[in-house]
Amino acid sequence: MTSPFDIAKDMRGEGICMQYSDCTNSFCLGELGAKRDNLPAYVLMAKEEKDIVTGVQFANKYNIKVSVKSTGHSLSGASTAKDTLLIWLAQYPEDNTIQLDYQDSCGDTESHNVIGVAAGQNFKSIAEAVGDDYHFVSASEWTVSASGGFIQGGGVSFTSRHYGLGVDNVVDFRVVLPSSAVVIADRCTNSDLFWALRGGGGGSFGIVTHMNYKLHAPTPIVRFSFNLEESSSNDTTVSTFLKYVAENLPNIDSRWGGRFSWFGLDMYFAGFPRGAQVTFLDDFIEFAMTNLNLPLSFWEKNHTRSYDSWSRVLPELEETTGQAYVAETSFSRLVPHDFATEQTVEHYQLLESLAKSNTLGYTNVLLGQNINKIPESETSVHPAFRESAFLLTANQIGYEKLLEKLPNNVTGASKNHVGSLEPNWRESIWGEHYERLLEIKELYDPRNIFSCYQCVGYEGEETDIYTKGKKLNPPNQAPTGGTIDQPTSAAQVLSTGSKLIIIMIGFSMYLMS
Ligand SMILES: Cc1cc2nc3c(=O)[nH]c(=O)nc-3n(C[C@H](O)[C@H](O)[C@H](O)COP(=O)(O)OP(=O)(O)OC[C@H]3O[C@@H](n4cnc5c(N)ncnc54)[C@H](O)[C@@H]3O)c2cc1C
Repeated sequence: MTSPFDIAKDMRGEGICMQYSDCTNSFCLGELGAKRDNLPAYVLMAKEEKDIVTGVQFANKYNIKVSVKSTGHSLSGASTAKDTLLIWLAQYPEDNTIQLDYQDSCGDTESHNVIGVAAGQNFKSIAEAVGDDYHFVSASEWTVSASGGFIQGGGVSFTSRHYGLGVDNVVDFRVVLPSSAVVIADRCTNSDLFWALRGGGGGSFGIVTHMNYKLHAPTPIVRFSFNLEESSSNDTTVSTFLKYVAENLPNIDSRWGGRFSWFGLDMYFAGFPRGAQVTFLDDFIEFAMTNLNLPLSFWEKNHTRSYDSWSRVLPELEETTGQAYVAETSFSRLVPHDFATEQTVEHYQLLESLAKSNTLGYTNVLLGQNINKIPESETSVHPAFRESAFLLTANQIGYEKLLEKLPNNVTGASKNHVGSLEPNWRESIWGEHYERLLEIKELYDPRNIFSCYQCVGYEGEETDIYTKGKKLNPPNQAPTGGTIDQPTSAAQVLSTGSKLIIIMIGFSMYLMS
């Protein structure tokens, strides 16, 4: 068969894989360390919507599956798949049109200020377009694409406690369907698709070529970075610090968001410094001075910094969070607000035991407040997202502890914060929403043309920690047997961790190049 598209293998060295151009890492090959070729058969670098339509028609005609890639940030390697036609959106032109009082097709009284975001466009371009004029909900790194995997996987931001998840900020999508038809999806047009695209994951229901995304009134941002430094090796200090976190952060003012770990806080306040002080900083600093036994030199440093807008925070986040983000976020769990606030001792002991066993991730995100005010049926993210206080991240050993306390019948995970080893991923990522997502998938993609790992309707090999290399489990059915593989020695743990860190360093360098 002849094809108008590039042959994937001819594009080695041009970033065809996720992060490395030589295709030797897990993100390209699938399971960590496996030598499984996960390359697509063809690559279409789409530069306009009709390229995408042509690509999808080609796939339908020759019965080839389609994979989609914007930036390649997917932690589970979902933006490539063996023998597919890969439709790559990295060179799709940006939009950035700002419209005031924009209305969706419902034509009711609801209107929003929005920015038009095209396929493949990342948060850097949005920050540059809006500057200090508006606030917007973004990923922690501006290299992530806005209308692709971030939004379709839920979209957790450090300002989400006040402004909602990414999915709560989309007004409408324009989509090339698996049939190659182009449609709009919003509250009143193709509302089932609109629901599915707001949390059901990228690469499943079609290709989003555009979205109108809410802009909020401008706000200054205060960043509070607190690192215990050498005191983070003192067990008593860490325990005291985590107890404060567990008891106080679930109900902190909605304008605060950010993340914590055993060694400190990285928090953001949407407002002026005085507001930041009275809502949290005064109280926390008094607690820390009294209880954490930090040296005087610690207090000589300035731990807060003010910015005119979120657009000015993002460039700094790229520098500080690049490799750290994924190194330990292969596993995550949503922590129910009730568990955090009513079973406070158990909650605190869980954090403490993760910290002491060196298995707690760096990026444990604050959730709750306005995220939880949106009804759980309104979007397709895991219902537990709407009643959580935190998103905890851990490595594989820590995950076993998390699962013991917070199993799938209590809560779940965030689509954007699970790696390819996530067990029971359908249930874990979507909970009771998976069934409806699958129905919508069958409606819009009856031939299952769009296929990717950890995506709704995926059929193929499973690479999670229970079923590595095994064929598909029927949707909604839990894999049977087995416990999570435990590394046999500390050296093995270290080598796994180092591998991940090396991958991420390369990853960040590739993305920045
Ligand atoms: C450094 C880093 C920082 C991150 N920070 C955050 C964060 O703060 N909050 C958060 O929630 N997540 C965060 N993530 C996770 C990130 O949101 C997910 O990895 C997301 O899937 C990336 O989407 P992408 O489109 O950029 O990547 P890709 O790997 O290109 O795509 C991811 C998935 O979306 C599909 N897809 C991409 N574009 C489209 C499209 N236009 N239409 C349909 N499907 C599409 C792909 O097929 C794939 O399944 C971060 C990840 C990294 C690596």
